[in-house]
Amino acid sequence: MSEYHAPLAEMRFVMTELAGLEAIATLPGFEDATPDTVAAILEEAAKFAHGVLDPLNRVGDTGGARLSEDGHVTTPPGFRDAYREFCALGWNGLSKSVDIGGQGMPQLVAAAVDEMWNASNMAFELCPMLTSGAIEAIELNGSEELKRTYLPKMVSGEWTGTMNLTEPQAGSDLAAVRAKAVRHDDGSYRIFGSKIFITYGDHDYTDNVVHLVLARTPDAPPGTRGISLFVVPKFVVNADGSTGERNDVRCVSLEHKLGIHASPTAVLAFGDRGGAVGHLVGEENHGLEYMFVMMNLARFGVGMQGVGIADRAYQRATGYARDRVQGRVADAAKDAAVSGIIGHPDVRRMLMTMRANTEAGRALGYVTAAALDRAHRHPDADVRQRELAFAELMIPIVKGWNTEVAQQTAYLGVQVHGGMGFIEETGAAQYLRDARITTIYEGTTGIQANDLVGRKIARDGGAALAAAIADMRGVQRALTGAGAEPLEVIGTRLADGIDALDDAGRWIVANFAHDLRSVLAGAVPFLELAGIVCGGAQLGKSALAASRKLAAADGDATFLRAKIATARHFADHALTCAPGLRDVVVAGAPGVLALAEDQF
Ligand SMILES: Cc1cc2nc3c(=O)[nH]c(=O)nc-3n(C[C@H](O)[C@H](O)[C@H](O)COP(=O)(O)OP(=O)(O)OC[C@H]3O[C@@H](n4cnc5c(N)ncnc54)[C@H](O)[C@@H]3O)c2cc1C
Repeated sequence: MSEYHAPLAEMRFVMTELAGLEAIATLPGFEDATPDTVAAILEEAAKFAHGVLDPLNRVGDTGGARLSEDGHVTTPPGFRDAYREFCALGWNGLSKSVDIGGQGMPQLVAAAVDEMWNASNMAFELCPMLTSGAIEAIELNGSEELKRTYLPKMVSGEWTGTMNLTEPQAGSDLAAVRAKAVRHDDGSYRIFGSKIFITYGDHDYTDNVVHLVLARTPDAPPGTRGISLFVVPKFVVNADGSTGERNDVRCVSLEHKLGIHASPTAVLAFGDRGGAVGHLVGEENHGLEYMFVMMNLARFGVGMQGVGIADRAYQRATGYARDRVQGRVADAAKDAAVSGIIGHPDVRRMLMTMRANTEAGRALGYVTAAALDRAHRHPDADVRQRELAFAELMIPIVKGWNTEVAQQTAYLGVQVHGGMGFIEETGAAQYLRDARITTIYEGTTGIQANDLVGRKIARDGGAALAAAIADMRGVQRALTGAGAEPLEVIGTRLADGIDALDDAGRWIVANFAHDLRSVLAGAVPFLELAGIVCGGAQLGKSALAASRKLAAADGDATFLRAKIATARHFADHALTCAPGLRDVVVAGAPGVLALAEDQF
């Protein structure tokens, strides 16, 4: 049975060599994030992931969350205790501000730690992830009273948070939200309506659950401009902060899902008994803006789910490939012993692809987290603005691409197991099932791709993309000029990839205004192209750093050589697809749009 071990050496390498941890620790407010403290945090998180969360992962899959006839939701055995221990150890508030009870660690550190929670037990991690987004939305937009009442208890984990957007007719299109909010004499509101698919919408971890709910006031304008955001607690909170009456919000059913069985996905009914008490966040009709803050963080978090699941699938597949003996390795002597399947070139191809995908996704995630840290804390306003533009460009890529490659990685994990991959006992199939949701919730890959080509590229005339491309060209020049074989090959492949991304990006900017349908027909292939090239550039940068360290005899030579080999594999197997994807983006629309709807 494979156990999860956090890849600490790799995590530290990416944080230091790619994401610039040491410089992050010099930013105001992050002085405590010294390399030693961060190393200690990662080690403690690795122990919790290994010892507590990983052993519960299969229990959660087989047991699942349950709704009793009297309306109580229970999570699988062990989850409630694990949650309490998680909070007691302070993990819930790791990256939250110290003034609301958090630890004040950078997003970069939280990204690495979240990866461990996702790898060991993604269904568990969803609860802290959504609470974190809800805290952020209240912290940035809520009144002082809302902050005082809710934030300390949500940061400590005493109360959890949810995100209530989706309704039966309003999924990707939130303009269709119908839930109603009626002003009450005392300044609060009464909320009515039904929300579906609400993650941890009810559970037994804590006494109170703080729902952040999108709803419309009666006189609100139609569409997205008429949506407001409300805090609706499961139990009304009294003036002294204690919990009072049960609010008029009820879990009426739990969904039966393909994966993440331990995470209760609830249908919530608001206002069946006179109206659920809600409190406005910020101003009326600005709810979607506020919710986007929460969604951005959640989208980044889902991208890290992709990395976590991919790494876990890789670890399990590697363990199996070492143990499973089948046939002789090609070219072996006739009398050679049968070997582990890890010796077969095709199995190695699968494992290397899994490894390279995971390392590329991790690098993209950590680099984006570090950009968010600089965007919030850097003393120079120009740097803050540049880093924010970069992070905003990357978030749909981290969400969209990392989760799409997580599917491929979990799929290969099953394939490496052969028939046993299809049998649940090995655990490989659970990753495939759990990973499947990551390309859907928090906005499907199609929605991420629309965001990328529209808001992140066309809107600024391709400026943020051009800045990212200029940085990548710097990496590529260092690789091609390195004078050493693997680095030069990586550099050549990266050069072709960057050219392809540049061409496709320019085509999008040139065509967005007058041929939107054609641009959107290629949006997902463009997202894939961007993920491959940005991921390939990060791995190229890793290879350069590894090669420098090898030359200086600084670090574990086996690990450093493997970094270079992994970057080479990604260059040969993924970056080579970039020119083809460019052609799909710029010339693939006619076929996509050729048939009339009734011809399908
Ligand atoms: C397990 C689970 C947990 C969830 N948790 C939460 C939660 O906590 N809170 C919450 O509010 N919601 C939650 N959701 C809902 C989730 O965010 C939505 O399911 C998701 O946004 C997609 O919406 P939809 O299901 O209505 O699909 P649809 O919007 O109907 O999409 C169907 C297909 O059409 C495509 N499509 C739709 N519009 C466009 C477009 N404009 N351009 C291109 N393609 C388009 C989509 O990409 C998709 O392929 C959860 C869902 C699940 C399954």
